[in-house]
Amino acid sequence: MVASVRLFEMGWHVLLVVDPNLLLQMRCDKCSAPAIVFQRYSGLHLCQKHFLLDVEKKIKREVRKAKVSGTLAIAFSGGKDSAVALYVLNELLAKLGTTIVAITIDEGIAGYRDAVLKKAASLINQLGIEWQVLSFEQEFGIRIDRVKDRPCTLCGIVRRSLLNRAAKSIGASALATGHNLDDEAQTILMNYLRGDIDRLLRLDHGEKAGLVRRIKPLKYVPEKEVALYAFLRGIPIDLEECRFSFGVFRAEVRELLNELEFNHPGTKHSLARGHEKLLQLTQRKPFELRECIKCGEPSVNQLCQSCDELAKVRLQGGAENKTKQ
Ligand code: SF4
Repeated sequence: MVASVRLFEMGWHVLLVVDPNLLLQMRCDKCSAPAIVFQRYSGLHLCQKHFLLDVEKKIKREVRKAKVSGTLAIAFSGGKDSAVALYVLNELLAKLGTTIVAITIDEGIAGYRDAVLKKAASLINQLGIEWQVLSFEQEFGIRIDRVKDRPCTLCGIVRRSLLNRAAKSIGASALATGHNLDDEAQTILMNYLRGDIDRLLRLDHGEKAGLVRRIKPLKYVPEKEVALYAFLRGIPIDLEECRFSFGVFRAEVRELLNELEFNHPGTKHSLARGHEKLLQLTQRKPFELRECIKCGEPSVNQLCQSCDELAKVRLQGGAENKTKQ
């Protein structure tokens, strides 16, 4: 299969675990054209046309559930997941009158973010949508490549906070992220394994004062299908991985889940669906939020996680160029 060969050529070893020779003999279960993919979890062989439709159907279902209107902010990193989210949401919603604004955060990672931004710009130009780029350096006077201790933790927390602030500033009714099924299943399982039920129940929160509602349109699309979709549609994506990516625990959970999915197809879907049911069953009182005493963003404690982490980094020194906050 051309797609899998090309993706492997590009060094993307995590993607398609299919046997091209086997697939050539297979027919699409929807129309009998030659199949290009076999979904072990659904038992379906799909041709290119029906594979693309299948991915779009899953994304549409999540968007319909989310009832998006007005302005939709999309967290756009330039990687395959957010690029596919941007592409499909633009196709789906722009013609229905929704204003799409892509927001990219430059964390300050030399040799990674600059290259990704170039690829991101080409998709933005192709789609002709509004784009905001915010940087940690401009907003907080720090660069992630100068943080010595737990750069990934700080990066994730501060990025979430900045994305929320940016989405609020443009009056967005929701903020879409590119989390795919694998991301989702890993996060859910990690929280179970840590016994962090509070965090588990805070995932996928609805709208709250000061907190823009998050939506995850790719939540039921497996990572390798997102990559194949991007390839088949010719969406420009950057394959570069951040050198700080994947904490040890997430990498272990990822490997474990891939093994479970191989032996028991559908495991990742079950985890994501089970989490949705759990949220419905618990119907717990929404967690209380107040304003962070430093930046005014929503926070569970007096100081929000972002300001707390930034203060720790400043105490250690070494990540700052200038201090803004
Ligand atoms: Fe930031 Fe970690 Fe993602 Fe790199 S992998 S961009 S450090 S969150």
